[in-house]
Amino acid sequence: MTYQVCLLSGDGIGPEITNVVREIIAASGVEIEWIPCSAGLSSFEKHGDPLPQETVDNIRRTKLALKGPLATASGKGFRSVNVALRKELQLYANYRPAKSLQGVPAPFQDVDLVVVRENTEGLYSGLEHTVVPGVVESLRVVTEAGSRRIAQFAFETAQKLGRKKVTCIHKANILKLSDGLFLDTCALVAKDYPDVEFDDCIVDAAAMKMVMNPHQFDVLVMENLFGDILSDLASGLVGGLGVTPSGNLGADAAVFEAVHGTAPDIAGKNLANPTALLLSATMMLRHMGEGEAAQRIETSLFAVLAEGKTLTGDLKGTASTTEFAEAIIGKL
Ligand code: NAD
Repeated sequence: MTYQVCLLSGDGIGPEITNVVREIIAASGVEIEWIPCSAGLSSFEKHGDPLPQETVDNIRRTKLALKGPLATASGKGFRSVNVALRKELQLYANYRPAKSLQGVPAPFQDVDLVVVRENTEGLYSGLEHTVVPGVVESLRVVTEAGSRRIAQFAFETAQKLGRKKVTCIHKANILKLSDGLFLDTCALVAKDYPDVEFDDCIVDAAAMKMVMNPHQFDVLVMENLFGDILSDLASGLVGGLGVTPSGNLGADAAVFEAVHGTAPDIAGKNLANPTALLLSATMMLRHMGEGEAAQRIETSLFAVLAEGKTLTGDLKGTASTTEFAEAIIGKL
């Protein structure tokens, strides 16, 4: 069987890392017809649009995309393609596992947790306005329906992965209405999953506990802003953004991407570490039902990392992107 998957190569190091990830997948035996799609700065320069409608339509059709990092400008310039994609395709769940990798320097060993972030509501709803000069309001939107679907996603994920516990992270003691609704809804959904333990934790305490003892957490579910921050914190526990994959999932499509940016300082030099994108791709393969190939790729990747002989510069090695990829292919 040949799958069709949209490929958004991205800006900066995007094309280099997507190329080697495609080669590794091909070497694993999974046949994919990649549909090249424009997005980001390169698309803006070529077509005057960072997210052409054709790209959105293609992802809607294939329901799958692998995406390299895209350059975005803060405060000015064109709209964030990442946020636009989440909205257009209703990719309501951001799924970010943080798992320790042997050979990757990190403050902890044996961390294995998952952050599930609500991706479409909260403070990132885009509802901002100036009330009077010098005063702005950004609205934090929480709906019962949005809270229910992300809570269900978290529990379904926990069940599928054989995980023991879901923790709702919130600030319901202060944000009594919005996070009160989020927490109450999560607690209600928990009743449908009696085999998965449920508890909750206030966000500031959760940040401290994650740094003191991350092993006490399993699956964490939270709204958009808290998820944005704590998912990066979780990445830091296992060695940083360079090794962290992510999936943005919705009812109609799923977009898989590395968490890091375009790394303009090393772009075009064959120095980038493709690990995060490769782990995003194995997440995609599992989503497609190709779990066996995903497992083989991860086993090879973990072996190369643990051996420590062929590592890229960010991991204190001297290997190029392509040499690192060849080492993985050599172990498949
Ligand atoms: P960055 O993640 O691109 O780079 C931060 C540092 O990490 C740099 O020193 C870089 O060389 C290094 N690094 C990142 N990924 C690496 C990899 N795979 N291998 C080796 N080293 C790696 O963050 P930044 O510099 O703040 O952002 C650059 C651009 O990326 C900005 O335009 C930003 O908006 C964009 N960005 C995009 C996404 C995305 O598309 N998902 C995410 C974050 C940032």
